[in-house]
Amino acid sequence: MRASDIPGDFDHVLYTEEQVASRIREVAAQIDADYAGREILMVGVLNGAVMTMADLCRAMTSHMSMDWMAVSSYGAGTKSSGVVRILKDLTKDIDGRDILIVEDIIDTGLTLSYLVQNLRSRNPNSIEIMAMFRKPEAVTCPLDVKYVGFDIPNEFVVGYGLDYADKYRNLTDVATLAPHVYAS
Ligand code: 5GP
Ligand code: MG
Ligand code: MG
Repeated sequence: MRASDIPGDFDHVLYTEEQVASRIREVAAQIDADYAGREILMVGVLNGAVMTMADLCRAMTSHMSMDWMAVSSYGAGTKSSGVVRILKDLTKDIDGRDILIVEDIIDTGLTLSYLVQNLRSRNPNSIEIMAMFRKPEAVTCPLDVKYVGFDIPNEFVVGYGLDYADKYRNLTDVATLAPHVYAS
């Protein structure tokens, strides 16, 4: 669905489906150039990265395989604590592999810092990160993010895999929510 299908739920659209698709093609071309002749193991972080993974890997020409992890941050509140629990681990051995982590959005970067540290201990050949969206606070994190779809303002966004209370992941645009949605 598009934001215009349920206009009352959204405040404003940051990126349309077309803008997202066009940026995905650019990033895919960059990845193909960087990994020429190598096979990538793309590791998607569930559930938010599902749309990014699906579109990114189909826009690429590199040989790739796919695996998934699910993680959850410990602690209450809306900010991640940096202590991360693995809810679903990889099914593949990553020893010697070239890993590209595919993530929906980086806010503090704490979740990804943990993930990178965890995967590094499994002895891959390389680890890089692709994040579809990145917020300003991420600059304070020492994380080296090689591929970023869009740097966005410090607003809570939904759509293109990103949820609010597990809803709006199927929005093709990326938008902010109207205040009444949070209140209900
Ligand atoms: P970090 O550890 O980088 O602070 O947190 C990243 C995670 O927080 C993301 O994977 C995502 O689940 C959630 N998150 C951060 N900002 C947003 C946002 O604007 N919208 C949504 N839907 N989730 C967000
Ligand atoms: Mg995520
Ligand atoms: Mg979420």
